[in-house]
Amino acid sequence: MSIQANAEHVASYYAATAHPVPERPALVGDIECEVCVVGAGFTGISAALHLAEQGLEVVVLEAARVGFGASGRNGGQIVNSYSRDMDVIEARYGAGTARALGDMAFEGNRIIRDRIAGYEIACDLKQGNLFAACNRKQLEGLREHKALWERYGNRQLELLEGEAYRREIGSERYVGALVDHSGGHLHPLNLVLGEAAAFESLGGKIHEQSPVLEVRHGESVTLRTPSGSVTARRVVMAGNAYLQGILPELEGKSMPCGTQIITTEPLPEALRRELIPHDMAVEDCNYLLDYYRFTADGRLLYGGGVNYGGQDPADIAAVIRPKMLKTFPQLADARIDFAWSGNFLMTLNRLPQFGRLNDNVYYAQGYSGHGVTCSHLAGKLIAEVMRGEGERFEAFAGLPHLPFPGGRLLRVPLSALGAWYYATRDRLGW
Ligand SMILES: Cc1cc2nc3c(=O)[nH]c(=O)nc-3n(C[C@H](O)[C@H](O)[C@H](O)COP(=O)(O)OP(=O)(O)OC[C@H]3O[C@@H](n4cnc5c(N)ncnc54)[C@H](O)[C@@H]3O)c2cc1C
Repeated sequence: MSIQANAEHVASYYAATAHPVPERPALVGDIECEVCVVGAGFTGISAALHLAEQGLEVVVLEAARVGFGASGRNGGQIVNSYSRDMDVIEARYGAGTARALGDMAFEGNRIIRDRIAGYEIACDLKQGNLFAACNRKQLEGLREHKALWERYGNRQLELLEGEAYRREIGSERYVGALVDHSGGHLHPLNLVLGEAAAFESLGGKIHEQSPVLEVRHGESVTLRTPSGSVTARRVVMAGNAYLQGILPELEGKSMPCGTQIITTEPLPEALRRELIPHDMAVEDCNYLLDYYRFTADGRLLYGGGVNYGGQDPADIAAVIRPKMLKTFPQLADARIDFAWSGNFLMTLNRLPQFGRLNDNVYYAQGYSGHGVTCSHLAGKLIAEVMRGEGERFEAFAGLPHLPFPGGRLLRVPLSALGAWYYATRDRLGW
C-alpha cells in the first residue's frame, strides 16, 4: 500500500477521540543508532518499547503518524491466540511447534494489560470477548476450540449453547457462542499512542512523516528517507500491510486485505443493554467475519467485509450497514457517524511471518486479521532475539511460508475465488 506524502490518520472514530500527541518532526539529516524500527504500529512500537526497556538506543521511522496503519483503526478486539489454531499447527508442523506456539498463545493479551497498567495508558479497556456461531457446525468448532485452548492453559472460557448466548447478544442470528472472559476490547489508537509516549519517556526517538524509501544492507544497515538517513546496527521492519516496494522478499509471501468499519451515533443505555448486555466484543465464526463492540461513548462499532488487494469500496457504509442490520435490525434508525477502512496482511497459511534478512534485519508481519495480541508478542520476541535469547522467536521463524499461488498478478483473483468458496460454505452451513 503506498502511503501519500504527509498522510494523516484516517477520519475514524478513533482519530476523533485520540489523546493529544506531541510534535514528532520528520527526520532531517543523517544519524546513527543501535536499532532502527520501521513502522509505528503495534509491532514497531511494541518492539521499540521492549528494546528501550533493555537499555538500547532506538529510533522509530514512521511514514505517516504513530498508529496510522491497522493498529490505529482496527476493531479494538483483544482476541487470544492466532488466526490458525494449534490443532492445525500440530497437524501440519508437529507437536513440538504446536507446544511452543501454544505456550505463547495468551501472552500478547498479558503484555497489553501490563503496558496499560505499567504506563497508565487510558484506552477504554473492557473485559471479555465472544465468538458467535452462525450454524451447528460452527458451534461444534467452538466446542473443540474450547477444549484446545484449555489444554494450553486458558481456563476462562464458557460455552453458551443454544439460546443461552442471548445472555450476551441480543440478536437472532446465532446458535451459540464461546465467551473468553480473559479477552476484551479497547481504543487501539490511544493504546499505541500511549505506548509510543512510554517509549519516548525512556529516551526513544520517533520521526513521523519519514517514509523509508530504500534499505541498504550491510554490516550496518542504512535506511534512506526523503530528507535524511539512519544507519543502524540492527533494523526491525514493522510496516505490515502498508510496506511497499522496499523489501520485495517479504511482499510475495503475503497479501494486503482491506476491511471496513462503521460506528453509529451514541446509543441510549437501554438499547445498548439489549444488544450486548455485558459490553463484550463479538466476532462471528464465518470465514469472512463480522466483528463488533461498543465504544466508550456508547456507539456500536461494526466491522466486516474483506477486499483482497486492499482496495476500498466507494461507499463503506453501504457495504457494512446491511451487515449490521442483519445482526441488529433494532438499529434501523441509528445514524452512522463514522466509516473507514484499513489494511491487514494475510499469509497463505494464516500464521504470522517472523524472520530476519541478512542476519541484522528482523521482521514480524502477516497476523492475518488477528494482530492486536500477536503484534505485541512479536515486539517482545524481537527484543528477546536481539539480546541473544532467540528460542521463542525462532519457533515462529521456523514456520514455512509459501508464496501466494499465481504470484503477484494472480494472487488477488485466486484469493477472492477462495474466499468466495469459504463464504458460500459459511452461508450454507457446510
Ligand atoms: C479494519 C481492521 C480491523 C481489525 N480488527 C482487529 C481486531 O479487532 N482484533 C485483532 O486482533 N486484529 C484486528 N486487525 C488486525 C490488526 O489491527 C493488525 O494485525 C495489527 O494492528 C498490525 O500491526 P502492525 O504494527 O504490524 O501494522 P500496522 O499497524 O499496519 O503498522 C504499520 C506501520 O508501518 C508504517 N510504514 C509502512 N511502510 C513504511 C515505510 N516504508 N517507512 C516507514 N513507515 C512505514 C505504516 O505507516 C504504519 O503506521 C484489524 C485490522 C484492520 C485493518
